Amino acid sequence: MPPKYHIETSQAPNRFQKITRSGIIAWEEGCLKCARCVKKDCVYQVYEKRNLDDRQMLDSLDSVCMDCFRCVQNCPNRLIHKGLNPSYKVLGDHYWTPEIISGLWFQAESGRIPVSGAGYGGPFSGPGFDAMWTDMSEIVRPTRDGIHGREYISTTVDIGRKVMSLEFGPDGEIISPAPPLVEIPLPVIFDILPWSPPGDRIPLSLLYGARALGTFAIIRQSAINNAVREFLPNAIIYVDGNPGGLNTQLLRSARIIEIPDGEGAIALQERLRSMNPDLVVMIRMKLSPKTPEQALTLVAQGAEVLHLVADEYGLEEGKDPLFIKERLKEVHLYLVNKGIRDQITLLGGGGIAMAEHMAKLIICGADAISIDIPLLAAMECRVCRRCKEGISCPVELDDVDPVWGSLRIVNLMAAWHSQLLEILGAMGIREARRLRGEMGRAMFFEDLEREIFATMGKRG
Ligand code: SF4
Ligand code: SF4
Repeated sequence: MPPKYHIETSQAPNRFQKITRSGIIAWEEGCLKCARCVKKDCVYQVYEKRNLDDRQMLDSLDSVCMDCFRCVQNCPNRLIHKGLNPSYKVLGDHYWTPEIISGLWFQAESGRIPVSGAGYGGPFSGPGFDAMWTDMSEIVRPTRDGIHGREYISTTVDIGRKVMSLEFGPDGEIISPAPPLVEIPLPVIFDILPWSPPGDRIPLSLLYGARALGTFAIIRQSAINNAVREFLPNAIIYVDGNPGGLNTQLLRSARIIEIPDGEGAIALQERLRSMNPDLVVMIRMKLSPKTPEQALTLVAQGAEVLHLVADEYGLEEGKDPLFIKERLKEVHLYLVNKGIRDQITLLGGGGIAMAEHMAKLIICGADAISIDIPLLAAMECRVCRRCKEGISCPVELDDVDPVWGSLRIVNLMAAWHSQLLEILGAMGIREARRLRGEMGRAMFFEDLEREIFATMGKRG
């Protein structure tokens, strides 16, 4: 058995003070001057260690408090209160919510799974990925050693075209051509960021992180310079310019390359392959209602990996756009019905914000996923999109140390890996490859609603 894939984590403290959910409001007026103030009894010494971060003008009270409510309850004149932090409420937007962003910060800092306490107090359904539940029936039957012990659950997946049958020569040797295949130990690659402050430091953090994890980061052809060359074994070059500009040496050191969809994509794939027969070529396609048909045509022409990309909210192109999980499900099932799904690798990306989204998209038919904004959030990004407008970044991400950035990314991926193991273990599935397309082990709100209410109001 190969050694277990394990991601080493280490505490990677924030560079900036965190924006926390709640803040402390402590009035002085009306203070009874008790012999022993409740503030002195705070076990975390929040009041004693209080300071002001003059760079951000933030009081440490809010970020250090552990929300035990001891001081709030014990002040005899009720002068201490906890309130929702207005800066927290305005983080991100309707999709990249404050809860998601702060969850990503926590995982990137500690490498641990966020635990929200006993029970789940939220709604049981919602838009997008929240309208899908996975079958965790095996959770009642944990094995003796648990999923982080001796039990082996593989999260490895393959990227490339697969042969459907083998042909043997007269001496028993395999004569069918074997297309190149790349294994990654985690079903995640790092995508091109939708926006970020300029400079090399952020892409370098992603490349360092990809190398540490054994996966890949997509980098534009136009962004390749001497600083990123040493990471080429873990880089997927995206051909965003003239493919003729890619030199032979560069192509020979690359293992995967990505090209845009469009006329001539297959011809370009063949041309690149002729320069490096071991190269896996991915075709990047914007997700749209036409994707199932386009995918079928490309597979028939010899495509090996299709990277289906939605926008940052997980929506496809066009009017009344479908969410990525719906369209990817359709593409997967369409190719299954045509009997060609197993020949190719489908990658899905856009709107993946949490570890559970990764598992859910794989269940909907992706072999692996690509992520973008969570990588920025791992480095304390507040999803304010100021950099998109050319305004300075409040957490100075252009100045990030790539070693620190990669530590945070590795921590985040370790937390996602642990959560994927939890999901696989709870579903009784022993490898991520087998999770792909396991829609029978999931429930979809729309299907349930249709099944339950379809007959209502009908006369028998
Ligand atoms: S709520 Fe608890 S942790 Fe926070 S300041 Fe008061 S006593 Fe300290
Ligand atoms: S914090 Fe804002 S400005 Fe900085 S990288 Fe994130 S979105 Fe861009």
